[in-house]
Amino acid sequence: MKRAILIHGGAGRVKKELWPSRIEGLKEAVLRGYEALLSKDDSIEAVVEAVAAMEDSGLFNAGRGSTISFKGTVEMDAAVMDWRSRFGAVGGVPNIRNPVRLARYVMEESPHRLIVGLEARNLAYRLGFKEYPIEELTGLRRVEEYLTRVKDKPSSFYGKLFESGKKIFTDTVGAVAVDSQGRVAAAVSTGGLLFKFGGRVGDSAIFGAGIMANAICAAVATGIGEYIMDSLLSYRIVEYRRYMSLEAACRKAMGFLTRYKGMDTAGVICIDRFGNLGWMHNTEMMGRAYMTDGMESPDVGMVGEGFIKV
Ligand code: ASP
Repeated sequence: MKRAILIHGGAGRVKKELWPSRIEGLKEAVLRGYEALLSKDDSIEAVVEAVAAMEDSGLFNAGRGSTISFKGTVEMDAAVMDWRSRFGAVGGVPNIRNPVRLARYVMEESPHRLIVGLEARNLAYRLGFKEYPIEELTGLRRVEEYLTRVKDKPSSFYGKLFESGKKIFTDTVGAVAVDSQGRVAAAVSTGGLLFKFGGRVGDSAIFGAGIMANAICAAVATGIGEYIMDSLLSYRIVEYRRYMSLEAACRKAMGFLTRYKGMDTAGVICIDRFGNLGWMHNTEMMGRAYMTDGMESPDVGMVGEGFIKV
């Protein structure tokens, strides 16, 4: 069967002038994932490589581009999951390069599912992971600029910081893929919500919330992590897919979330073992890109839903 990879660069809103760089970033990442799919024919390789490319780009809220907590710390969440429903994640890890690879280590090499905080970083150090140099943390720079803009409005400065952070959530990254043997996989990585409490872990590290996969279907979510957890959004898609088409499953799950939590809350991408791909969001935009066998170049878009079969 045809191999395929679909990635997203976060639900939310991004200024128009930043679209060209995001589109380039998505293109590069989906191609990196697709190359891994070609050379290794393994969906987990593909999703990890695509997400690692977005983490390194500094363009998205993940890896080098991670945003910061209320305490000014970088705390990353990442997870991977495969067609055997194997799961591995890290939560609240301070600045390390490619947290998605650490999540893969947790899945494949450790007896655990989720490792958090400083011990996750210690594990990364023991495994030889490097840090992103502080001066390269583009997320930190963006937040500094934002703080400079809001600091003259003291009323909104503290109490409303998290609320305003929630409004400008965006740019988490994720990927789903299927290889030639119909094996699906998913990966996700984020710096979390801007001005989250120190120690807050979001949906991206939580099984069934920001990520879910089984032998038939894989899904990842982006948006306000608390709402995605409340509604177990990714689990819903994968579970509904047992009884209905991918498109129907995706619509039903997103419909549930939107009724329960409102518009402007989330987006998802999903794939099944039969080569169906889907993406949908209730936010202003969600950058996404896909590449499949037979295509000459990736298809990239910033707005709107889509359901295709390869
Ligand atoms: N879902 C992520 C979180 O809440 C944020 C995002 O998708 O942009 O940590």
